[in-house]
Amino acid sequence: MSGFLEGRTGLVVGVANKRSIAWACAQALHAQGMRLAFSFANDRLEKTVRKLADELEGSVCFPCDVTQPEEIDALFASVGDAFGLLDTLVHAVAFAKREELAGNFFETSKDGYMLAHEVSAYSLTAMARRALPLMEGRPGSIVTLTYIGSERVVKNYNVMGIAKAALEASVRYLAYDLGPRGIRVNAISAGPIRTVSAQGVEGFSEVLDHIAGMAPLRRNVTAEEVGDVAAFLASDMSRGVTGATMYVDAGYNIMGV
Ligand code: NAP
Repeated sequence: MSGFLEGRTGLVVGVANKRSIAWACAQALHAQGMRLAFSFANDRLEKTVRKLADELEGSVCFPCDVTQPEEIDALFASVGDAFGLLDTLVHAVAFAKREELAGNFFETSKDGYMLAHEVSAYSLTAMARRALPLMEGRPGSIVTLTYIGSERVVKNYNVMGIAKAALEASVRYLAYDLGPRGIRVNAISAGPIRTVSAQGVEGFSEVLDHIAGMAPLRRNVTAEEVGDVAAFLASDMSRGVTGATMYVDAGYNIMGV
């Protein structure tokens, strides 16, 4: 049986290890027949990312630190050489200094503020621009990952919440720009999932407990559930959806008291 992404190609940015949301997205895309390229942020991650990519037949890997414009250029040149064209970009990258993810938001440093925005928000626009020539004429889909800390105060999420707000606004502006070219841009607002990045936010375990008690489904979501929605957003089944922030959070976002 062939999958609904058979014959399509995708680039997945943000795999650090097998717990990464990006890895769950990759598995879901590949399960539906998509051929994948991966990027790894640095030498430390290369071995792990290559090993994971080897599990998904036909995959290729390239380096890319998203703060380095020439590395983004090189990544898309390599993807172009490997695939010729690109249907899907999954952007699952975020970073803030550990000390900015605890305590008072008003103590955020200028450096920390800029770095969080550069990696977690601006990189989407930088990558979308490079993806354009490869997506032209394809049913292109760009998917990024966000969190409800962009709209509501989540203790200790601090500058990352501000960066996610910028990311979600970027999704809307990119969707408007790229819509006439047939390229869709959407965000998945995932509930908390135990990954390396998430554990950098002080008090993360308490957040998981809170959601499990409050969310309509009375549990947390899994990375696999997020991956399945990424596959949907990459597919023609979501062809009428762009500029959206889609919650995959066990329904937590609807809750008041
Ligand atoms: P993760 O496994 O730690 O993935 C984050 C990735 O971003 C890592 O591969 C990390 O590499 C990479 N990265 C950081 N700085 C980079 C740079 N300069 N260039 C290239 N890559 C860089 O964590 P995750 O939870 O799956 O995060 C994926 C996305 O989901 C993020 O946007 C996150 O905000 C979002 N999200 C997560 C949750 C959650 O609860 N886990 C909920 C909602 C949304 P390094 O390891 O080298 O830093």
